[in-house]
Amino acid sequence: MAKGKINVTSENIFPVIKKFLYSDHEIFLRELVSNAVDATEKLKHLSTMGKIDGELGDTKIEVSIDKDARTLTIKDRGIGMTSEEVEKYITDIAFSGAEEFMEKYKEEMDGKDLIGHFGLGFYSAFMVAEQVEIFTKSHAKDSVATHWACDGSPEYTIEDTDQKQDRGTEIVLHIDKDSDEFLEEHRITELLNKYSKFVPVEIKFGTKEETITEGEGDDKTETKVTVDNIINNTAPAWTKQPSELTDENYNSFYKELYPMNFEDPLFHIHLNVDYPFNLTGILYFPKISKTMDLQKDKIQLYQNQVYITDNVENIVPDFLNMLKGVIDSPDIPLNVSRSYLQADAAVKRISGHITKKVADKLNSMFKEDREDFQQKWEDIKIIIEYGMLSEQKFYDKAKKFALFPTVKNEFFTIDELVEKTKANQTDKDGNTVILYSANKEAQHSYIERAEEKGYEVVLLDSPIVSHLIQKIEQENDKVKFVRVDADAIDKLIDKDEPIISKLSKEEEETLKPVVEGAISDSKYTVQMETLDSKDLPFIITVPEFMRRMKEQAQTGGGMMGMGQMPEMYNLVVNTNNELITEILNEKDEDRKGRLVRQGFDLAKLQQNLLHGADLTNFIRRSVDLIK
Ligand code: ADP
Repeated sequence: MAKGKINVTSENIFPVIKKFLYSDHEIFLRELVSNAVDATEKLKHLSTMGKIDGELGDTKIEVSIDKDARTLTIKDRGIGMTSEEVEKYITDIAFSGAEEFMEKYKEEMDGKDLIGHFGLGFYSAFMVAEQVEIFTKSHAKDSVATHWACDGSPEYTIEDTDQKQDRGTEIVLHIDKDSDEFLEEHRITELLNKYSKFVPVEIKFGTKEETITEGEGDDKTETKVTVDNIINNTAPAWTKQPSELTDENYNSFYKELYPMNFEDPLFHIHLNVDYPFNLTGILYFPKISKTMDLQKDKIQLYQNQVYITDNVENIVPDFLNMLKGVIDSPDIPLNVSRSYLQADAAVKRISGHITKKVADKLNSMFKEDREDFQQKWEDIKIIIEYGMLSEQKFYDKAKKFALFPTVKNEFFTIDELVEKTKANQTDKDGNTVILYSANKEAQHSYIERAEEKGYEVVLLDSPIVSHLIQKIEQENDKVKFVRVDADAIDKLIDKDEPIISKLSKEEEETLKPVVEGAISDSKYTVQMETLDSKDLPFIITVPEFMRRMKEQAQTGGGMMGMGQMPEMYNLVVNTNNELITEILNEKDEDRKGRLVRQGFDLAKLQQNLLHGADLTNFIRRSVDLIK
């Protein structure tokens, strides 16, 4: 037996590794399984080139637990290592890699700032094991098996062994007292499922019973057999060509990814790039309107089919956060901090590419089957609208397929909408005014008035609408959005068509304080307006600008402090409505006050603003009136 001392400067780096990476101990299994996969793939590669002696044989990787011996073993039938290779790759290179890693990330290692992969490789085994043994036999002709052992100090032993007959490597971890969880079957199953569910070489963990049915009727026999319990799917959908896959294949892969999700996705985008970077993956648009817990199933990031993380911040643009699926790219630098990732050029290109692919897919769906796209709109609009706000490049593509449904359930793109409305809805300053409603029911009477005028009303109810229309106005000169209840109908689209007032200036000035006195509510600003005599006597409006600022502040952005701004309304008094003349001429002061309050309450009712004591009083007053 030979003894050696690993050439490192720090006496014992393992306690340090343990301490720093306490929260991520579990990744050791991913690292060791990945090494086993690599060794197997290398062997298969050599085999296809006719460069190995003998049979390839069964190349399954086996993970097993021996509770009594307190060991966890990862066994592969890959290329194996000669004793020289163990010295070189394990003691020298891997060790110095671990040390280098320690040096580099000491400052950042609060554990949080580092993405899932630590580049620790083989030595991550010492996070959970007090001793690690390697039994390995190289594929090379006439090679002798080697046994290496190390207890985490810089000392190790290496010797020839006849204990290992077959080709490949067995890593035996003697699990540490405080890492008992890794001797539990369910824990190992969980980890293999998390990290190695799609690795390209079969992984066996234990066995399971299966029932084989043969024959039929009376001849039917059922035999129970014990078979290998295979953890993984070695050829997940994203590694295949889109032409090999049907919609059902994509949907069943979705279920494989998220076994607890019972909804089918709306549609998918298959990513497949090999230049200037490598990226494969499948992104799914979920049915957002029906999914309660949006953030539970996230996009998963893989490297060469090994799971890394489901935190894809910076790699997938923010606005696509609600998508599901997988991304696999060996080109994303992972053993780095998040702030580094943000600045990395390759990562930026990947993020840009994903944005482009998503926009292109949506565009082709819109072009190929507009009817179907319109049906999906409700589910996908929030993502598209958010994307238009956050990425100019996405906006430039999305403006051609972003839809504006009208209250009559017709769908227009912005250009179509402007084209459709400009004849009837252009104001005196030459702006085409797009009327919108946030709620068809609540704003019914306002919508009805607009429709009487032949105006189109679009339905915009996303939480970010105020930001979106602002953006569209910036991009489209001479296009303005105004909510249907922002003003009296004739002022919404001000065409400067004068209406003659029934009241004189003096009469208006007498009436205004009467109204103010009767309503005595400082939230309302009374405005005397000359409207159509058919319009209601009292109308409550919220000026577009004010409401938008407030909404924007509530959803982030806009002016600071506006979110806390008190509710402010205009009470428009239509001086041409008969009731207003009646109020003006009423001699009985009591009745005068009652008429104003009744009219005001009706206006509030129309805006869903009549509640509590005001509503009770209104009902009493109304009953008195009909008595
Ligand atoms: P990395 O895998 O990133 O190179 P590791 O520390 O995990 O770093 O492994 C160091 C080296 O040891 C590998 O590159 C490989 O040459 C060798 N090695 C590790 N595990 C195995 C294995 N199961 N079979 C063959 N060689 C292995």
